Parts: sequence; C-alpha cells; structure tokens
Amino acid sequence: MDTRTQVLTISKRIYSTRLVIASLGNVSCRDASGMIAITPSGVDYEELSVKDIVTIDIDGTPTQKGRIPSSETPMHTLVYRERPDIMGIVHTHSLSASAFSVANQEIPVEMVEVAAHVGGSIHVAPYRPPGTKELGEVALNALKTRRACLLQNHGVLAVGTTLEKAYKAAAITEIAARIHILASVLGRPGELPEDEVKKVRDLYFTL
Ligand SMILES: [Zn+2]
Repeated sequence: MDTRTQVLTISKRIYSTRLVIASLGNVSCRDASGMIAITPSGVDYEELSVKDIVTIDIDGTPTQKGRIPSSETPMHTLVYRERPDIMGIVHTHSLSASAFSVANQEIPVEMVEVAAHVGGSIHVAPYRPPGTKELGEVALNALKTRRACLLQNHGVLAVGTTLEKAYKAAAITEIAARIHILASVLGRPGELPEDEVKKVRDLYFTL
C-alpha cells in the first residue's frame, strides 16, 4: 500500500474509532525514499479522499500542487528529521488522553498493553504553541524510547516504525487514559509493578 493510501486508511480509522473529530489531529507516513504523505489542513475526516493527502519533503515543502499540508507539519517533519527510525506519526486530541494532558499528568502503566505497545508510562511534553517545530522538539524529549507522549494542554503524539504501530499506540493511550479515569471512580487504580512492566516490554515491545 502506498503512503498516501496508508495515511487515508489510518485517518478514516481514527475518525471511526472517535480518536478525532472534524479536522482535528493529523496523520503522516514516510516512505523509503524519504517522501512524506500527510493529511491536509482543514478537511473533515469524513470527506477525506486519497487525492486530498499531501506529499511533502523532509522540510515540509509540498512536492506537487494540491491541498495545503496539515498545520502541524513542522512537528511531523522535526520528528522525521531527528528520528530516522520513525516512519509513521498519528496526532490526536482524543478525549480522555487530552484530559491527562490538561491535568499535566502522565498516564501510568496499569494495563499490560501500555507496556507492550507504548513501552511504559506516557509522559507529558511541556506546552508549546501548535504548528511550531518547538512542539516537535519537546515531544521528542518526552517520547524517548516510548511510542507515545502527551502534549500539555493539547493532545497525543504517537510514533512508530510503521504507521500501523503509531495508530495502535495512539489508540492504547486513549484506552489507558479512559480506564484510569473510570477506575478512579471505582476506587484507587493500581499500577503494574515495575518488574512486570519490564518483563512485558522485553517480551513484546518494539518501536
Ligand atoms: Zn493538535
């Protein structure tokens, strides 16, 4: 599947699974030649088709005429420039994870899938304005060896060596946040012991 089709497929999936609404959030994918396919600015997900997906170079310049690339292009290209291993990025404002970002609180590892697919607790990158490369810089610091982080007062950034993996990390980040909030209503949520997190991570986690 070419990268524009991959971006379209994952965009439709984050919309249908309610990780995003309207045109908020964005998705990108890099191919082996270094070309990046990214969602356009200001087009609602339900209207999105493959011709709307923009291709850009590593500096964010469109390589053909068409839509304007996502306003978060500087964050995506910064991550791709600094991390040659990253080939896919998903950015959402999913509800429960965004609540953690507004509370400036990391999401702990309470479910094994967080260790297996994100790689550990999900840190918060300090606030930087949307649409800046500085947002990408703080996100990279928060990501370290994880597949997802929170952007303070904003949302989620998930990355992976494939776009599919980035999607999975974004989805699990939202589920982990939601389960924590629900469990807090029932009582006091319990974290997985550190050695268990390490065991699961060693067994299953890859970037
Ligand atoms: Zn955003």
